[in-house]
Amino acid sequence: MADTGAEEHGRRSVLRAVALGGAGAAVGLAAGAAIDSAEAAPATPHSAMAVPSAGPWRPGEGHVDVTWAVNTSQKLVALTFDDGPMPNWTPMVHDILDEEKVKATFFLVGQRLVRNARLVHGRMDRHEAGNHTWAHRNLAQLDHRAALSQMRRAHAAISEITGREPRHLRPPYGNIGGTTLSAAGVLGYNLVLWSIKMLEKTYEKHPPKLVDYIVNNTAPGTILLAHDTGHQDRLVALRNLSPMIRGLRAKGFEFVTVSELIQAGAAAPGTRTAQ
Ligand SMILES: [Zn+2]
Repeated sequence: MADTGAEEHGRRSVLRAVALGGAGAAVGLAAGAAIDSAEAAPATPHSAMAVPSAGPWRPGEGHVDVTWAVNTSQKLVALTFDDGPMPNWTPMVHDILDEEKVKATFFLVGQRLVRNARLVHGRMDRHEAGNHTWAHRNLAQLDHRAALSQMRRAHAAISEITGREPRHLRPPYGNIGGTTLSAAGVLGYNLVLWSIKMLEKTYEKHPPKLVDYIVNNTAPGTILLAHDTGHQDRLVALRNLSPMIRGLRAKGFEFVTVSELIQAGAAAPGTRTAQ
């Protein structure tokens, strides 16, 4: 009985080993099948794909940079305004920036710029214009062609109306898809996001706290996000721009455009700041 038991045990072990081998092979095949079907990507939106062509595809620069902030030891900050130009709002911002002699970067919505070109006429000289798409579309949902069209139309309008070609895209809502990168690559654009934004809803009823929040959290290389249009609560940031600018200047900060900030970071590689 003992021998039979040992034999039986041995036979079961062999059977188990065979079964495991078989299961292993089956798992391998299943994984391969899963990879094959992932290549067809039935559940993935077209906007996720960052290579728009099956054939050779190489955008001009061969790469796209994404910048939230810049590593620099210099006390530089880039103030940015999205979504304009719009009546009332944008002239108010320009008036404040002129009064404080501050540079900023405006990420313009192409169709608003075409409609409101007079608002920026003669007022962009020391500022930078960036691309915020033609119609403030959510780029995370567009295929390559549509994303490229949004960027191209805005690029043409900004170039014509401001006289300078934008080089930076700020994707609306901070949303990006693979096609945002491929379309930006075609146009030789880099992406610019932000490291601190105005918390208008949080501080709507407490303007001095918003000023403190911005002044205390800005570090060398910060990109600050504000809006020169939108819901009424955004006015709290614009009405308190002067105290923010003065507070930052008192701490030794200088206001530069996004391009200047990125240039300062590129000129001093390896420097790091606590962000
Ligand atoms: Zn926007």
